[in-house]
Amino acid sequence: MTDATTSTYSLDDILRHVKAIWGYDQLRPLQEAAIRAELDGRDSLVVLPTGGGKSLCYQVPPLVAGRTDLVISPLISLMKDQVDGLRANGYPAVALNSALTADERRQAEDELASGNVRLVFMSPERALTGWVRSQGRRMGIQHIAVDEAHCISHWGHDFRPEYRQLAQLKADLGVSIHAYTATATERVRADIIEQLHLQAPAVHIGNFDRPNLVYRVLTRNEAKKQIFEIVDRHRREAVIIYCMSRADTERIAGHLNNGGYTARFYHAGMKPSERRAAQEAFVNEEIDIVVATVAFGMGIDRSNVRCVIHAAMPQSIEHYQQEAGRAGRDGLEAECVLLYSPADTVRWRSLLEKKSGGMEGTIRPVDLELLSHMRRYSSPTGCRHRALVEYFGQTFASENCGACDICLGEVDDLIEATREAQMILSCVARVEQRFGMGHVVDVLRGADSPRIKKMRHDQLSTYGLLTGTPKKTLNNWVFQLLDQELLTRTRGDYPLLRLNQQSMEVLRGQRQVFLMPTKTKRVKKTTVEAESWDGVSRDLFEALRTLRSTLARERGVPPYVIFNDATLRDLARRRPKTLDEMLQVQGVGKKKVEDLGLTFLEALLNFSG
Ligand code: ADP
Ligand code: ZN
Repeated sequence: MTDATTSTYSLDDILRHVKAIWGYDQLRPLQEAAIRAELDGRDSLVVLPTGGGKSLCYQVPPLVAGRTDLVISPLISLMKDQVDGLRANGYPAVALNSALTADERRQAEDELASGNVRLVFMSPERALTGWVRSQGRRMGIQHIAVDEAHCISHWGHDFRPEYRQLAQLKADLGVSIHAYTATATERVRADIIEQLHLQAPAVHIGNFDRPNLVYRVLTRNEAKKQIFEIVDRHRREAVIIYCMSRADTERIAGHLNNGGYTARFYHAGMKPSERRAAQEAFVNEEIDIVVATVAFGMGIDRSNVRCVIHAAMPQSIEHYQQEAGRAGRDGLEAECVLLYSPADTVRWRSLLEKKSGGMEGTIRPVDLELLSHMRRYSSPTGCRHRALVEYFGQTFASENCGACDICLGEVDDLIEATREAQMILSCVARVEQRFGMGHVVDVLRGADSPRIKKMRHDQLSTYGLLTGTPKKTLNNWVFQLLDQELLTRTRGDYPLLRLNQQSMEVLRGQRQVFLMPTKTKRVKKTTVEAESWDGVSRDLFEALRTLRSTLARERGVPPYVIFNDATLRDLARRRPKTLDEMLQVQGVGKKKVEDLGLTFLEALLNFSG
């Protein structure tokens, strides 16, 4: 905490409400401090990673203080999901937005007039149209939580200009403002404080490590086969596969559907109705695999995503953290796999060049820097957890995280490949730097192509030097050389390989070359995984999931509104026999026991396993 608090509520007061509504026994790190800032009406900025429990921080204070607070949320779908979830716990919340029917709207306003509502959700636009100044003021709203506050910054990834005007509310009405975000970068933080005019804010920044996520980076050599292997580890579990292009999402979803999986693709080129349908099918657990571009993300409230695959390297660690972070929001183990090919850096460079006006070498330095950090993360240089946490300016205490491919010993070391690199580079020299990658690789492999014959390249001293090496591996090596800038290529549709200063150093033996191995070892079981399943029968867990789906369908709500996976696991672990015992289960509050207690007790009783 930044300083002494003046709030008159004890921790017990707070925990009593948390237990009754949410069924949790404890607060997570920083939640108490964040709650106290809101109770004290002191401006605050709370930065916690996805899944860190930000929502609870602004949901608890109005409950404890018996007041009505406002939450600004950027998407209608996010508001609806939260309000549904809260109401299922017996927490009085409403959302005011354009998606409401006239009846729903009237009902929401009646509830508000009764004074019993604790949270009102709305978009920034609506908050700015005068609602806060009229009704809000009449209702005595004094505290505003701003969710996804990074939307205020154009350094963030979801810039929303309306967020900028929210500071006006503070000036007009003297309310306290409480900003929440998962974006860890310093300049976004500074932007939020400045743009929202936060005054002497309490700033709480959580730990950015996500210990329940297992990070892996695989060299992409057979994308389709590799993706199949990964999704096979996650049968009947939610998987998001991120791709670089719309076409890739459709192609990979097609492969998966032909391969016996049920997958849908999602990208910004689809009609809004199609996108909504794909999103809802995923959230309602009708499908488990979504293959998407970065357009898929915010507003996806499925906390039991067990795996996020990147079919190609994202353009920055910020993007990676954000996207991979959608895994395991329920705190249970989940896997994040990046399929990396050195070709990705090359592709990003040319995309970024196009973006910045199309001239060679005109990539914005900041973009290049972000890209090179991402590339460094993708090569096997050290613990992935450590790399991510340190990137965001925090320290990582443990020597071995036990939850990444490096620390698990799944990755081979870099290979000293100076000789192979010299062979490749001298072949580029022999063909007089006038050919592309395909041809150079053919010459090195001693291929029998008409083109080679015609150019008499079978006469070169480098012809057939690497005959035993598979074509895929050779291509990969050339991309790695490009990626490490030990070789360059020209722009355009038929890029030619060219030598540069560094190539000459390699050729003269003044520089060693290390390459990433193209094969990967078998994945190992982690302790995170073992612990979370400790004492849990998988069959019972599956039986409870089926019951949850049935109930969700009957009630027309997403499954997580019934219980999340962490709660189902705890139910399967403790196997309560009475309603009182059921209240001990993590994530079961009073309302849920009333509503669902008997149904689940019966299912537990009838389960013979
Ligand atoms: P964020 O908004 O930071 O991404 P959420 O608010 O969605 O995270 O919370 C992530 C998950 O953690 C939710 O399932 C939530 O119910 C759970 N959670 C939050 N606080 C606690 C707590 N004190 N104890 C146990 N679970 C919690
Ligand atoms: Zn590690």
